[in-house]
This record gives sequence, C-alpha cells and structure tokens, in this order.
Amino acid sequence: MAKEKEHLNLAFIGHVDHGKSTLVGNLLVKAGTINEQQLASGEDKFRFIMDTTKEEQERGVTIDLAHQKFSTKKYDYTVVDCPGHRDFVKNMITGASQADAAVLVVAANDGVMPQTKEHMFLSMTLGIKQIIIGINKMDMEDYSEDRFNEVKEDVSVLLKSIGRDPSTVTFIPLSAFEGDNIVEASSNTPWYKGPTLIEALDALTAPEKPTDLPLRIPIQDVYSITGVGTVPVGRVETGILKKGDNVIFLPSTTVNGASGEVKSIEMHHEQFEVAEPGDNIGFNVRGVGKNDIRRGDVAGHTSDAPTVAKQFSAQVVVLQHPGVITVGYTPVFHCHTSQTACTFIELTAKLDPATGQPEAKNPDFIKTGDAAIVEIRPTKPMVLEEAKNIPPMGRFAIRDMGQTVAAGLCLKITEQ
Ligand code: GDP
Repeated sequence: MAKEKEHLNLAFIGHVDHGKSTLVGNLLVKAGTINEQQLASGEDKFRFIMDTTKEEQERGVTIDLAHQKFSTKKYDYTVVDCPGHRDFVKNMITGASQADAAVLVVAANDGVMPQTKEHMFLSMTLGIKQIIIGINKMDMEDYSEDRFNEVKEDVSVLLKSIGRDPSTVTFIPLSAFEGDNIVEASSNTPWYKGPTLIEALDALTAPEKPTDLPLRIPIQDVYSITGVGTVPVGRVETGILKKGDNVIFLPSTTVNGASGEVKSIEMHHEQFEVAEPGDNIGFNVRGVGKNDIRRGDVAGHTSDAPTVAKQFSAQVVVLQHPGVITVGYTPVFHCHTSQTACTFIELTAKLDPATGQPEAKNPDFIKTGDAAIVEIRPTKPMVLEEAKNIPPMGRFAIRDMGQTVAAGLCLKITEQ
C-alpha cells in the first residue's frame, strides 16, 4: 500500500469580497475535486457558499466550501471554515478544525482593508503559524507589477506588526477569476518569478505531532460498557498515553480528581498499547466510575496533571458583540471540550489591533474589533493551560446569545 499522504488544514481569510470563495472554488476545480456543473452560473461561476447568509443562498450558490478536500502530489488538504462562516472561530478553538496554515486573500484594487487586519490578527491569536499572501484580482489592475508591490508593501507592514518577518512569507499575484498563478504560472505576470499557489501550498510544512508536551486528553463523553466498565472518550491533544500509565481527571466530580491506572486503550474497536496526538480514543481506567468524570474534564499523567485555573489573564479579540464588554460580563467560554461561564474581572489594557501593542490602560469597555488584555475568573473550576506551554489547551472562544462574540488565549494562570 502507498504511504498515506500527510494532511494539512487550510483556512482562507481576508476581507469580504476579496475573492476567497472564488479562489477556493477555482482551486477545487483545478485540483479535480469538483466539476464545473457544481458551480453557480454566469459572472460568479466560481462562487460557492462560504458564508451562509440567506441573500447569498438565493443568489444560487451550490455547495458548501468548508470541509472540501483536494490533493496535490505532496499533501491532502482540507479547507476548513473561514471567518465569516458562523462557527469558524469556535471550531478552530475547540480543535474541530484547527488550521495548519492560512491563505490571506487581499484584492489588488482595494488593498488592505479592516478585515484584512482583523483576520491576520485573529490568525495569530488562533495559533496559525504559516501564512501565504494571495494578492488577488490582478486582472482588475492590468497585472501591474507596481500595484502588486504597493499592496505587498502594505501587507508587509501588517506582518511586521504581528511579529512576522515578511521576507519569509510568500506573496503571489493571482486572479482567482481568470485562474492566474493558481496551478500554472501565468503569462500575464511575466515579472513574477515565485511559486504558484499550489507550489506555495506544497512548500508548507506539515504539523508536527506535539508528542513532547504533557499528556492532555479533553473528555468528550463518558460511556459505561458491559464487560469493560467506564470508558471516557476523547482526542489526545498533546503527549502520549500508554497502557499501564497512571492518569488523573480534573476538575472531576471527586475532590482532587479521579485517578487510576490505564487498563485499555481502544480506537475504532481495536485495542492499542499507545495513543498519540490526533487519536480519538476510548480508554478504561481502574477505579474510575461513570459518575466521577464528565465532559469537559481533562485527563493527564498524575505526575504532570492538568492545570485547574481559578483565575487567568488572557488576550482576547472581540469579533462581534452587539454592545460593549465591561467588568462583570459573564459569558460562556468554550475551551477544548469544556463550556464554563467566566467573569471579566478586569480590563487590563486595550491593544492596537493593527500592531498588537498596548494602547490604553484599564479601558471602561471594549467593543467589536477591539483586542485587549483581560483578567478572567471562571465561575467553577476548569482546566486551562498557558497557550505558550500547551497551545491547543490555551485557546478559547467566548459565546453569548448564540454566537461567538470573542476569541482569545490564556497568557498566564494567575491563581490555581
Ligand atoms: P469572498 O467574499 O472573499 O469570498 O469573495 P468572492 O469570492 O465572493 O468574490 C467577490 C466578488 O469578486 C465576486 O463577484 C467574484 O466574482 C469577484 N472576484 C473574485 N476574484 C476575482 C478576480 O480575481 N478578478 C475579478 N475581476 N473578480 C473577482
């Protein structure tokens, strides 16, 4: 059997109407995943659903772009939800669709726009380490090298502001609509000597499995199985679990956590000796009963137990909030599999969203588009880790009124 190709999750980000859907549509057609019949007709032939507003559906959009797959010689790719798609941030944070890389689409005619900045800042907050810049709609600027360089310069300023060196980032002149530089180098841009989009994608590095980090398995469900006993189910986020290991579940319904020795590990109805990051497993632990643990608990080795945070400081980005956020606000934080109401107890500093630098100390409120450093106190114990130590366990989405109002990451646990 041929070796399985490595897999990458891609997010397409950028200002509305800059051509994300068109680019993904054309990419999927060129990669042979979908055929032209599945596309909408006319002007917007490469346009599909990415955003799911009614008005857009009525304009005849035909397939959902999120979760579409395509392959190149090197990798299998999945297009994960994009910002604008309702649950993008929540899905990214809770690990359902963590992107390994982002393609930032900037239209050459408009240049850098507010959402270009917001999405770049968000991609950093969400821990997306690799980014490719597609300068799109080059056909509208007569494929001008000068215009390409102007937009490239503006985007470079943004990249520097989030601590990225623009000289290590690939900029590609594109026309998503005409198909320039997507798969084949375009004769319309003879001055461009860099890779096509597909080549740039294949030059990305596949994510390494975080096997060196402490073991963390957020629990999704707990089953009782005849002949086996209690079987918590979850995905190994970091570290390695072996049969015979001593593990602890926190916060758990028992004081100081439920703990015991791992008796069995199962995946797809098969027994395994070892599980590693990305594995969805069921496992049985000696002495741990169904009522001792529940969804939202996290398992780790007893020798390096998950951190239960009483209070923490965080960096948050407010994505869409109808009003303002002030001290005392208590929405639900979605972090790994836990959903916990948490209170904003201090607004420490507002950040300049374009630079990430502190702008104002102790603002009275923060609102949509703002980024800030804040102090948070969960209303009940929850497991959380500092994002710099265990990245997948340090991110959260803040939900209220049925939508994701903000996203953030834990900078420091201030009280355990
Ligand atoms: P999104 O909101 O970023 O997903 O943008 P869309 O893909 O929906 O594109 C917005 C509009 O720009 C649509 O009418 C597209 O047909 C058009 N468009 C997208 N890419 C190009 C391009 O490369 N050249 C031209 N001329 N139009 C484009």
